[in-house]
Amino acid sequence: MFVGHYGVSFAAQRMNRHIPLWVLFIAVQLLDVLWAPFILLGIEKVRIVPGITASNPLDLYYMPYTHSLIAAVVWSSAGYGLYRLWRRRAAAGAPTLVGLAVFSHWILDFVVHRPDLPLYDNTAKVGLSLWDRPALAFGLEAALLFVGMSMFLRGRAGPKTGMTIFGIVMLAIQAVVFFGPPPASDTAAATTALLAYGLFAGFVAQWEIRHSHVHRA
Ligand SMILES: [Zn+2]
Repeated sequence: MFVGHYGVSFAAQRMNRHIPLWVLFIAVQLLDVLWAPFILLGIEKVRIVPGITASNPLDLYYMPYTHSLIAAVVWSSAGYGLYRLWRRRAAAGAPTLVGLAVFSHWILDFVVHRPDLPLYDNTAKVGLSLWDRPALAFGLEAALLFVGMSMFLRGRAGPKTGMTIFGIVMLAIQAVVFFGPPPASDTAAATTALLAYGLFAGFVAQWEIRHSHVHRA
């Protein structure tokens, strides 16, 4: 899953307005944000196999450190701990929400991935393979993204057009990933993914700065 993960960020920010949205953007993608450099360093492995699923050509055959269930629990705990350290005065609910946001990545990946998500190490792999039903998988990404975003924008003062356009751009990028040509190589896939996660988090960070006066009002 790609842009659908951000629906969780938007919804979580609606539940606790004190958590920066950009932090939740990193949190919901943390497993992939780590996956990309792990691929570039050869710690985890992927190969491009067009047709391996109907919409995603990645054969994710070795990713025990980022996408096993055990690893997801560990990284979620790390997200909880880091947020607690960073925002010492935050109420206990905030770091818990950040930890759950990290864990939501594995749950949503479980729905769309082929059985390539190990429960532990590189074994006992699971996945419901929604990627083999491209229209459904794409619809799920769009629904999650826009339901979450509308929750986030509801009750907020100030202009909403910029964020809505950002959502449409994200969905367009998702469409290219789904229905466009496969990535040129494993490293190209990892690099573009990391670039996208950075740009998306950067966009919402500057959006929050520009809208902070509205929030305070
Ligand atoms: Zn993932």
